[in-house]
Amino acid sequence: MSNPPPVVRFAPSPTGRLHIGNARTALFNWLFAKRRGGTFILRYDDTDRERSTEEFARGIAEDLAWLGIVPDRVAHQSQRVDRYGAAAEKLRALGRLYACYETEEELEYRRRRQLAMHKPPIYDRAALKLSAEDRAKFEAEGRRPHWRFLLDHRAVTWDDLVRGPQTIDCASLSDPVLIRADGTYLYTLPSVVDDVDLGVTHVIRGEDHVTNTAVQIQLFEWLGGAPPAFAHHNLLTLPSGEGLSKRLGHLSLQALREQGYEPSAVAALAVLIGTSHAVEPVESLDELLHKADLADVSHSAAKFDEAELAQLNARTLHRMSYAGVKDRLGALGVSGGEEFWDAVRGNLSTLAEARDWWRVVHEAIAPVIEPADRDLIEAAAATLPEEPWDQGTWAKWSDAVKNATGRKGKALFRPLRLALTGREHGPELKALLPLIGRERALSRLSGG
Ligand code: GLU
Repeated sequence: MSNPPPVVRFAPSPTGRLHIGNARTALFNWLFAKRRGGTFILRYDDTDRERSTEEFARGIAEDLAWLGIVPDRVAHQSQRVDRYGAAAEKLRALGRLYACYETEEELEYRRRRQLAMHKPPIYDRAALKLSAEDRAKFEAEGRRPHWRFLLDHRAVTWDDLVRGPQTIDCASLSDPVLIRADGTYLYTLPSVVDDVDLGVTHVIRGEDHVTNTAVQIQLFEWLGGAPPAFAHHNLLTLPSGEGLSKRLGHLSLQALREQGYEPSAVAALAVLIGTSHAVEPVESLDELLHKADLADVSHSAAKFDEAELAQLNARTLHRMSYAGVKDRLGALGVSGGEEFWDAVRGNLSTLAEARDWWRVVHEAIAPVIEPADRDLIEAAAATLPEEPWDQGTWAKWSDAVKNATGRKGKALFRPLRLALTGREHGPELKALLPLIGRERALSRLSGG
């Protein structure tokens, strides 16, 4: 019997733009769902009202769309607070949510004392022993409670789709705070409530959430939902091993886009790095559907190196079909068609460079003719064939120039290239020459 199509969610908090590590999580979710005819939900974890903004939320949708991800459904935690209130009530009724009055300083003091005694700094559940009078006294002092989830001190296990069988002993964890003293929710409870309500079947996220999973599995059980399947992928780090954070603005998708990276190169690297697959260019996300699935993700951190992205970007452009870039070339003001694209793509590091080559073949340039090459260039102008020109023209013409001047190799080709393009290097002249055309070529060989 086949499984029903999966429902996954990507759950960023809109407190900044997405970086390449977030893209990895989004893409693993999207690819997992699309491979299996499933649903991809974009869930904004925006319970932190101070730091969440509409603008970041829009930016995240824009970044995903740039990668090629359009969510099947969008949810906002800020619109679902009633549901979290109901879940909290249920936990209270079950005796699993208890009021605590410690201040940050008190907790910190206790943690230090535990550490000094070589004990793990786990919350000691002192608040569980408070009497009604104790609580009334705190309230009279103006203290408001925060609320902790009473964990069962037992081992929680799951079969992780990336990491295999996992066991976490919840006796080694502090009871997590679910509700702050100001009544706002931390991420832990809303996430579970949403996953139940939205019918999420697979939670795919970074391995920084492994411990949360043990807590959340207990919450799923108390709230009456069967836990979904879990997959925790390895995290991307900088080559130094340092973790990525929103602080590292240069690795935001927005910054990578502005630097001219192709979305498919960013996506391919974000997905394939740190898996058993080679990092290879793809033309679209659909091509990634046939590559790395969760079981192919390695268990150690994956190092993200921008030089690797630059190289992959170039390789992506080199094999890109004209259909894949036609519209964007148009937007850059390049109207050279497929012949032009095939002539230049092998030389590009970024697509914007196509515009430079378009100027070279199509607009006025400053030809470079060195004094020692004047005779050669004159002979070249004199032997320039009549049109029509094709890819064979260059070989015939450069042969004629060679015969007329006795020059060959670099001494022949370099001056011709400098005069025709104004540059030392570039795409093959046999492809550029017909695009430049006789009239422009002649004028450049005459120095204008
Ligand atoms: N908002 C959480 C995060 O960005 C979501 C984690 C999850 O996928 O459950 O880390």
